[in-house]
Amino acid sequence: MNFADSERIRARLKKEGWREVVRRQDADLIIINSCVVRESAENRVYGLINEIRKSGRKPKIILTGCLAGWARRDQTGRNLRQLRRRIGDDVEIKLIDQFAGLETKPQRQAHADGYAYVPISNGCNNFCSYCIVPFSRGREVSRPAKAILREVQCLLRRGHSKIMLLGQNVNSWWGRGRIKTFAQLLEAVATMEGLKDTTFLSANPWDFSNDLINVIAKNKNISRSVHLPLQSGDDEILRKMKRNYTAADYLNLVTKIKKAIPDVKLTTDIIVGFPGETEKAFENTRKVCRAVGFEKAFVSRYSPRPGTLSVKLYPDDVPPAEKKRRWRILNGMINLKLGT
Ligand code: SF4
Repeated sequence: MNFADSERIRARLKKEGWREVVRRQDADLIIINSCVVRESAENRVYGLINEIRKSGRKPKIILTGCLAGWARRDQTGRNLRQLRRRIGDDVEIKLIDQFAGLETKPQRQAHADGYAYVPISNGCNNFCSYCIVPFSRGREVSRPAKAILREVQCLLRRGHSKIMLLGQNVNSWWGRGRIKTFAQLLEAVATMEGLKDTTFLSANPWDFSNDLINVIAKNKNISRSVHLPLQSGDDEILRKMKRNYTAADYLNLVTKIKKAIPDVKLTTDIIVGFPGETEKAFENTRKVCRAVGFEKAFVSRYSPRPGTLSVKLYPDDVPPAEKKRRWRILNGMINLKLGT
């Protein structure tokens, strides 16, 4: 999503007459499009600002993206003051929408995966207890189907044939008029002439409808690689995470998907070391992973994010070394195929 936002920021700056340089030290203006999903990503932003300051030159720095959103969207002003204490007063902090909205025509970059990125929604209303996204990106907003289809059409005319639909909660997209659900939107995209491959990121399990499964099964140009975040395979941890499903619900959904799309390859996100995750709870996650047989997993160690419910309710009680051990086990089992 940040890549897609950067393509829109780039277009806006170009329109204003800015020219892109290759080396950071040649820039008069540096835009940092930040991520705060984990503490390490946030720390990289502070490190980068320090590095730029130490370089001697004094380019104007604008901080945007999720860290800026987290600071600017907080009505109390507390987050902004906290951020100011970290980065000083000389860095401008701007919401992404102040640069470019979802309807800004992007200046596209080539991506390693070959897809052209098309955001269809932004923000999230789910408030999973560990997640900072609803605070940094705000509430969920869906783009009108007409605008999305126009953008895809335009890409196809220009020779793109691979389209990735993006949203923090991509499959909860909703529309007015003829195309109301994400399944209908995906089908409308998949049946456009010239489209060879389409995919979407990131879907949540509770909005993964039967209609969506059928649309994927029916249209061979929709990628067979489906990303379905699990986060944990333990019911008590899932409840504390405020993920609206149990391990059994998740496995039932996987069974339905595999039945309808036999060549599907499932990938996932998992958090290890969430507060209160016992060895038994971790073993439950491994059990679900064994049962699903994920192709790939993005395993992350729980990182308390300021302002989220999990920080307020649960102490970060799994020691870092234990989080690392659990990360190694899952990463080895799923990504390195080392077995259980
Ligand atoms: S659904 Fe995804 S983006 Fe939304 S709060 Fe949960 S983890 Fe965050």
